[in-house]
Amino acid sequence: MHELSIAMSIVDIASRKADEASAEKVTLVELDIGIMSGIEFISLEFALSVAVKDSILEGTRFKINRIEPLCECSSCNHLYTPGQDFGACPECGKQEIEFIRGKELQIKSLLIDQKE
Ligand SMILES: [Zn+2]
Repeated sequence: MHELSIAMSIVDIASRKADEASAEKVTLVELDIGIMSGIEFISLEFALSVAVKDSILEGTRFKINRIEPLCECSSCNHLYTPGQDFGACPECGKQEIEFIRGKELQIKSLLIDQKE
């Protein structure tokens, strides 16, 4: 399962950051995930619940922000939300699409309890 390896690397990175900050507990991990990233949100939530076992993130709440896609036309620089078909730019009709947002997969923030 693709989502499990993603979940494991999220847990890995978040654990390392928590460690660097001398965290005793991580209360919340906020993730930005683009809806065009190809990740299934339900599968990822499940995978995270498996991946946190025996890590500092066990019991941590995950907040997943779904990032809507935004495209820029490389030809005329028009910014737009792509339709279902991801077709041509609505301004100039060219097919030179660049995703500005919507394909990301990143840890936005970590809420931790620090050691005394
Ligand atoms: Zn255009």
